[in-house]
This record gives sequence, C-alpha cells and structure tokens, in this order.
Amino acid sequence: MEGLQLKKYAELLVRSGGNVQPGQLVVIGCAVDDAYFARIVQECAYDAGAKEVVMNWIDPASTRTRYLRAEDSVFDEFPQWRVDWYKHHDDRGAVYLHIDSSDPDYLAGVDSDRLRRFSKVSSIATKEHSALTMSNALRWSVCAIPSPAWAKKVFPDIPEAEAMEKLWAAIFKCARADGADAIADWQVHSGNFSERLDYLNKMNFDTLRITTGLGTDLTLGLVKNHIWAGGGDVGKDGVPFYPNIPTEELFTMPDRMRADGRVVASMPLSRQGNLIEGFEMTFKDGLVVSYKAEKNEQTLADIFTMDEGAKRLGEVALVADSSPIGKMGILFYNTLFDENASSHLALGKAYPNNMENGTEMTVEERVAAGCNDSFTHVDFMFGTPDMKVVGIAADGTETVFFENGDFI
Ligand code: ZN
Ligand code: ZN
Repeated sequence: MEGLQLKKYAELLVRSGGNVQPGQLVVIGCAVDDAYFARIVQECAYDAGAKEVVMNWIDPASTRTRYLRAEDSVFDEFPQWRVDWYKHHDDRGAVYLHIDSSDPDYLAGVDSDRLRRFSKVSSIATKEHSALTMSNALRWSVCAIPSPAWAKKVFPDIPEAEAMEKLWAAIFKCARADGADAIADWQVHSGNFSERLDYLNKMNFDTLRITTGLGTDLTLGLVKNHIWAGGGDVGKDGVPFYPNIPTEELFTMPDRMRADGRVVASMPLSRQGNLIEGFEMTFKDGLVVSYKAEKNEQTLADIFTMDEGAKRLGEVALVADSSPIGKMGILFYNTLFDENASSHLALGKAYPNNMENGTEMTVEERVAAGCNDSFTHVDFMFGTPDMKVVGIAADGTETVFFENGDFI
C-alpha cells in the first residue's frame, strides 16, 4: 500500500478515531508483524501533540504457541504487573489506539477450556480498565489493517499479494478512507447519524419487534431512558471520538429481562479462531433457554458458560443493508467489519452510556434498571435484506420504522 494513503489512514485513527489532544499520553496496541504501520501511527500521534506514545506490542503467533504448549495452570492466573500496567496508563488519561490484523483462525485447534479460563481471569483482572473505556472515561479507537493470513482467509482463491491489495482496498472503502480527505468525510458521515438518532431517541420505544425471513422473531424490551448512540461518541472530558473505524451502526440497550422469541444468525461468528456457523438461539424473559449451531456448537456453548450475563443481551444494533460494508457482501471474519455489515445483537455486557445517567450509576443500580452486566460482550449478526422492525410505544402504539433491511 502506498505510503501517503497509509499516512492518511493513520491520521484518521489518531485525529478522528482517538482524537489525540496536545499533551496527552497515547498507547498503541499492535501486532509485531505490523510494526511498520504502528510506527506511522506513532509519528502521527506526536504530530498531534502527544506527550508520549507507548507501544503495546502483541504477537498472535506466540500467543497461540503459549496456548498450545504452556503448563495448564497458567491459564487460571493473570499477572498483576499487567493490571498495574493498565492502571498506570489509565491514571494518566491515556488514549488507547488499537490496530487489528488478526488471522481469524489463529487460535483454531487450541483447547477451548484454556481459552475460556484465561478469557475469564483476564476479564476479571482488567475489569476496571474495561469499565473506564466502556463508559468513555477514557477515549479509545480501533481500526484494522490486513495481514497475509487474514487476507488469504477472506480471499482464498487468489495469490497472497493480490489478496492483501484487495483487503486493503476493501478496508479503505468500508472505513470511508478511500477519498481525498477521510477526516472531512467522517464529519459528513457522522452528521448523517444524527437525524436517525434524534428520531429513535424522540420515539423512545418501549419494545422492538424484529422479524426476518430467516426465522428471527424477537420481541425485545428496551430499558427505560435508553439512549440510541452511533457514529461518534463523546469522552467524559467532552472531547469527541470514534471508537470504531469503520462504524455504521445505531445501537441501544435492551432490557436484560425482556427478550422473548427466536433469533437466527445471518452470518457466521468468528470466535477465538473458530467459526460458529448456522446458529440460532431462543430467549425467554431475557435469558437464552436453547441454542444450536451447525458448526462449532461447543464454541457457542462456551460463551454461555462465562457467567449469567453472557446468556442475556447487552446491545441491539441496527445497520442499514445499504451501508458500504453490507453492499460489499464480503465476509471479513472480523467483528469490526461484519458487525457493521448487518444488524446485530450482543450477548453480555451493555454499554452504560446507552442509558441516561448510566455512567454515574453503580453496577448494581444499573442491573436493577435492566442493564446487563457480564465479563464478556459478543456481537453476532442476524440482519437480512428483508428485516423489519416495529417500534412499540409504552401505550401500545406500533410504528414500523425499518423495513426491507433499511430505515424508512
Ligand atoms: Zn454493535
Ligand atoms: Zn457490540
């Protein structure tokens, strides 16, 4: 990929994504194989006035080897120094930028019990850090760049170099970073969200009834005083930012006790290197009471055994079928892209800022108000080109506002 375009993309992450402010600490999370791009982002962050840019290198390949070869007991503990590492940067108001390029299959064949156990201890240990990012007390942003393994997974039938070019092009298009001025394009994109958000927040529906031709028929209660969000977000310090590049979704908080009916996934779910395919689940009073999958059902089951909250919903998101990602029709095997291709639900933790005063309340207060809490948050897609959503007001009035896969 051409240097100038890479720099523009890096600037989008720094200036729009995390919106790095002069004098601010920046943490960049990136795989060692992608150091070339992380270094461009680092330069851009210093150009934006960052006080210091800390590199947080990861290596999916050696993570895999650790899962395969380390002694079993290590997966039940999370090092305290790592918790302190996050706290050190959190206390200094860091902006977290993350560059994702992971091979969707990098954990394939790894013992799922090890993954589940380590995922649980990591979530518990980093709970404070997650709470800070999920409540926008700290700004953060994630973007993606191709890696050869990922590119080959998405485009298996062409040579690697060609697949890389093709994935770069798809990423730029999805991220609306293919124009002359991506930062300006994002301002326009963000403005388009406002109209729909205003409508949904004004209607203040009590319940959504969602149906698709695949068989989804879900009656989903929303929490009282829920807030629809999408596009940009605003940090607690009042500085706007975009947590996800790309972003196409409008999302809010379902009531953890009010989901009834069947949800049939419309896309496979890539999870810890395994692809869960042809799956569906049935809810009663907000709880998953049955589920099945044609492929990797155990991986799906492992999500539900995390904790009670993992069996309830923490997010409902609407994505127009006409979004650039949806139109592309590519399965990216990466939630950042696939969740912006299609309407989705998330099992697990809800975003506190999807509820009035949510970020000021304690976890117990939020849960009592219907906000789901969990150590996990797993998005899965169910949107289809024939999806319909009826909004039901507290007085029972019904309004169809989403039909044939798009907002009316
Ligand atoms: Zn979402
Ligand atoms: Zn989500």
